[in-house]
Amino acid sequence: MRKKQFKTESQKLLDMMINSIYTHKEIFLRELISNASDAIDKLYYRSLTDSSVTLKRDDYEITIRADKDERTLTLTDNGCGMTMEELENNLGTIAKSGSYDFKKDNADQSDVDVIGQFGVGFYSAFMVADKITVKTKPYGQDEAYIWESEGVSGYSVGNTKKIGHGTEICLHLKPDTDDDKYSEYLDEFKIRTLVKKYSDYIRYPIKTNVTSSRKKEGSEEYETVTELTTLNSMVPLWKKSASEITEEEYNSFYQDKFYDYEAPLKAISQKSEGMSTFEALLFIPAHAPYDFYTKNFEKGLELYSSGVMITEKCKDLLPDYFCFVRGLVDSADLSLNISREMLQHDRQLKVIAKAIEKKIKNELLKMQENDREKYEKFFNAFGPQIKFGIYENYGANAENLKDLIMFVSSKEKKLVTLKEYVSNMKENQSSIYYACGETVDRIAMLPQVEAVVGKGYEVLYFSDDVDEFAVKMMNKYGDKEFKNICTDKLDITTDEEKEEIKNENEAYSDMLEFMKEAIGDVHSVRFTNTLGTHPVSLSSEGEVSHEMEKVLSKMPGAEKSMIKAQTVLEINTSHPIASRLKELYVQDKDRVKSYAKILYAQARLIGGLDIENPSELSDLICSIL
Ligand code: ADP
Repeated sequence: MRKKQFKTESQKLLDMMINSIYTHKEIFLRELISNASDAIDKLYYRSLTDSSVTLKRDDYEITIRADKDERTLTLTDNGCGMTMEELENNLGTIAKSGSYDFKKDNADQSDVDVIGQFGVGFYSAFMVADKITVKTKPYGQDEAYIWESEGVSGYSVGNTKKIGHGTEICLHLKPDTDDDKYSEYLDEFKIRTLVKKYSDYIRYPIKTNVTSSRKKEGSEEYETVTELTTLNSMVPLWKKSASEITEEEYNSFYQDKFYDYEAPLKAISQKSEGMSTFEALLFIPAHAPYDFYTKNFEKGLELYSSGVMITEKCKDLLPDYFCFVRGLVDSADLSLNISREMLQHDRQLKVIAKAIEKKIKNELLKMQENDREKYEKFFNAFGPQIKFGIYENYGANAENLKDLIMFVSSKEKKLVTLKEYVSNMKENQSSIYYACGETVDRIAMLPQVEAVVGKGYEVLYFSDDVDEFAVKMMNKYGDKEFKNICTDKLDITTDEEKEEIKNENEAYSDMLEFMKEAIGDVHSVRFTNTLGTHPVSLSSEGEVSHEMEKVLSKMPGAEKSMIKAQTVLEINTSHPIASRLKELYVQDKDRVKSYAKILYAQARLIGGLDIENPSELSDLICSIL
């Protein structure tokens, strides 16, 4: 063999390659398999126009053989092979890609889809091997060539013997260290895992020796058999046209790939050409994964380039509010960086992400319209995420997401969209009414709710922490404002009624002020005519409602005293208790004090708030009983 130096600055480059380009050593297998697949592609393309190539589609294969005694891992392919000149050019010059040239030369053939482009992938094998031997024989020729290298020191080339065309690459694995157990790459299970992870959709079978034990024919005895087994599934589901794929196929693909015991609510397949060419296969899971609401949850889609996995969780492909979507994106025209671990421009990702987001939203809206039961299941699992999406970034996405959210309605007793609510509004109603509380049942029992519902209006029940924050951020839905029926002024009383209550409050302002002083921590006490049959209720003034106060004070680091609702005690002017108070205020002021405290405590309890001094309350009640 003739001894040679690597060309150009190759030595330095090789050193850099081996030590710093890749973050995961294991990708060497992906790189070598991709090269083998490219080599087969090249011969296959040739066979389409060259009748001297007699191989059939099914004859092609890639094999991986591990020899534990020799510590070698050998990859073979029956692709195009290399001439001596090609061998020297391609493996003697780092950053020389025969595949890239091939792609350029065949640019008119739209189905040319080889993977290689940088001319460095091969050398990644030096991350795990201290010596590499390549034997190769071009298709249709008698001569075979050998290339051997121990890394930076250079390489040797020469003639050799080889049965059959194609290339055989033998890696002599480095000795194990405390940090790196290179021998794991000889392990059958490890090889299978890596092939599945990175190269599952390579178009040609990738085979390895798999040992299993089975019954001998015609006997009860077991024997150990080692045979070549195909590891990859080969057909990327997303390359098929959607009409060819059955629901079962989608489901089992999803469940196998994402380890879910339940089938997805929806599979979405998307193909796009133009601005960016890509295929996506997306799934809406039927339930939130167990770690969904923890900080361990990572969003993201798998990213493939021509069927080879590049990134397992590409975060940039999904907005946070759709973080529950699982799936993958495959694109042949991503400009990858040299290690093929990252993209060079995130501009491409942004274009894809935009298209995907639009598709997900449209599919969800379709589901909402055509399969409400399914959509409710979806919304119960992931609705809070979408409402949070409306709230975050100062409402930047509110307009985009507003039609996806739903709330339980007082009238329907089930989830309705804002659009449905608005279309059901009464003629004289100009705002969307909502009430907040811990659970739907508790909200339904609020005095204000009973009163407003009693007048024939529909009220939305906000029982998620994020609900009120989200609609405050939206400000309006279309031209309709949101109104909290417990705190905001509603337009459901007549001018006459408004005038009446105003006069009443003015006439008794002394007494109401006296009650306020007695209670201490209320902003004001007033008469109202919007409570139906109930005696008292709590309301608030200003921007912060009681529900918001509750949520904010639960947040880490919140100074409880900082964020407070301005509490208002409302007393029903037509309830007997109102006249009793008026009487007592003349006869026995002290008792008004006790009454004020009791009424305030009742109102707090109804509103789902704590009372500061339950034993004082108990004493007060007993003193009047
Ligand atoms: P890339 O795959 O990005 O082109 P590599 O360093 O992995 O870069 O490979 C350099 C070149 O060597 C390839 O472009 C190809 O021409 C040639 N080559 C590598 N492996 C094989 C193989 N198994 N069979 C034929 N040619 C190969």
